[in-house]
Amino acid sequence: MARNCITLFTLFCLVSLFQIMPLQAQDEKNIQIPPELTEVWEPEARMVTPGTAAAPPSDAIVLFDGNNLEEWLSAQDDSPARWTINADGSMTVAPGAGDIKTRRLFGDVQLHLEFRTPTVITGDGQGRGNSGVFFQERYEVQVLDNYNNRTYSNGQAGSIYKQYIPLVNVCRPPGEWQTYDIIYTAPRFNKDGIRIQAGTLTVIQNGVLVQNHSEIKGTTEYIGWPQNLAHGPAALKLQDHGNLVSYRNIWIREL
Ligand code: MG
Repeated sequence: MARNCITLFTLFCLVSLFQIMPLQAQDEKNIQIPPELTEVWEPEARMVTPGTAAAPPSDAIVLFDGNNLEEWLSAQDDSPARWTINADGSMTVAPGAGDIKTRRLFGDVQLHLEFRTPTVITGDGQGRGNSGVFFQERYEVQVLDNYNNRTYSNGQAGSIYKQYIPLVNVCRPPGEWQTYDIIYTAPRFNKDGIRIQAGTLTVIQNGVLVQNHSEIKGTTEYIGWPQNLAHGPAALKLQDHGNLVSYRNIWIREL
């Protein structure tokens, strides 16, 4: 008899519990939390004075402002860079002088530069206004005159060379200044030298998105497949492809 009473009491308790639970859930929905509870105050984003068309932001490293090539070396032998500085505050590839690279080494960066392909058109396809911006000396965002100049799509201006076609062709005519604003995240490698996270590139050309967080497949290769050997911080490199491409207003922010 006693056992039956206990069983009945347990049953009563369980039924009561199931009746109460939905009410509690309903009450929780109605609890009002103050808006301040979801405000995040720390850490505070630091102040940066925005740049203008003429001036880089306050925390940028200026790599070229028109005065000298002190931030640059010849990529092939680390001697002083030998490209031409012009009176208008730009520099121009000196064909045959070779690629130039920064003295400083970088990892993740935001880069701004302006480039101009030659007014006098010589050649076509890849032979017209060819240069390039290499991140960590390995991964090229193509510089090319693709204003009415067809070439393979994954090798045109705004491409990650031989890897990603640009979303649009937003090239200005030869002789006009164009902008690249590029966000680069370096690939990550583990202690065994195996790539565990691909690098990425987001490229805005003349204010228009042409690469949207594209995952870099490996080193830029003219022939063959991208490679993924481990590396650390490395220089930014500009390509001498034999064409009189000019650059100006180059600055970089370490991320
Ligand atoms: Mg190139």
